[in-house]
Amino acid sequence: MNSEDRSSTPRDPQRSSGALYVVATPIGNLADIGRRALDVLAGADLILAEDTRHSAKLLSHYGISTACRSFHEHNEARQVAQVVKRIADGAHVALICDAGTPLVSDPGFRLVAALREQGLAVIPVPGPSAAICALSVAGLPTDRFCFEGFLPSRSSARRRVLHTLAREPRTLIFYESPRRLLSAVADMAVEFGDARRAVLARELTKIHESVISGTLAELRDWLAAHAEQRRGECVIVVAGAARDSDDGLAGGVDPEALLRVLIEALPVKQAVAVAARVTGIKRNVLYRQALALAARGREDG
Ligand code: SAM
Repeated sequence: MNSEDRSSTPRDPQRSSGALYVVATPIGNLADIGRRALDVLAGADLILAEDTRHSAKLLSHYGISTACRSFHEHNEARQVAQVVKRIADGAHVALICDAGTPLVSDPGFRLVAALREQGLAVIPVPGPSAAICALSVAGLPTDRFCFEGFLPSRSSARRRVLHTLAREPRTLIFYESPRRLLSAVADMAVEFGDARRAVLARELTKIHESVISGTLAELRDWLAAHAEQRRGECVIVVAGAARDSDDGLAGGVDPEALLRVLIEALPVKQAVAVAARVTGIKRNVLYRQALALAARGREDG
């Protein structure tokens, strides 16, 4: 077990052996970087960057002239042995990605695993990550959450993955490309139900930052009507499924199926009151679900 103080920067004379510094960089606003990250980048022997041209903007903004080499998903496997050797020989290497924290839906896993295997130092220099940034402003439960990263790009595969997540009670975090944002939200509405709460966090920390919340059906319809909101980078945060004890399933009752039957026979308010008594779920939750079901019924004719 190595309990060495990891807070030192590469030029610290106390630290003579090599190390990989995993350095988080801004996800938009260049000011979102700490003193220690800048010191590490300036003092390193080499910076491994996903896209050297992209990172040049950040590095030149802070007057950092450390040598930079490209390190991305297509050359990571090839570069690992070489980088491990350099670090074993005493080099201080910093790993950065285009935005946020390396290894979070970004390259670096193979390199970090190889260094750990060799007992070489891997030192985190923490900072922004779009997932945590979005979660922190979503207003959805944060005590437990799962990061799902990118969904498959084809709808059939995406629907299968979403289907397996439909009963997940923890808050879900997804990354999505602007091209697939609308279809991903539409598929979520199908698999999780129209009434599930969600948040679209777009262009975080940038000029056109927006954080929009609503039900999945509302967000789908809003995105369909506003093409300009489908541009830029986006994180989708989705509320977890109601827990068994809340949703009546523990008693074998599917609240959506129950509501569907009740709203055929009763006004929505009464249907909700009956369903709330049977399932123990809060009326406002059921009311939203009933309205979504009624709207779907009208669309289907
Ligand atoms: N390593 C990064 C991190 O720590 O967040 C994530 C890299 S991943 C390749 C890029 C995805 O992160 C984007 O497609 C988008 O889903 C999300 N993302 C990155 N920057 C963002 C921002 N400023 N606003 C919203 N989402 C962002």
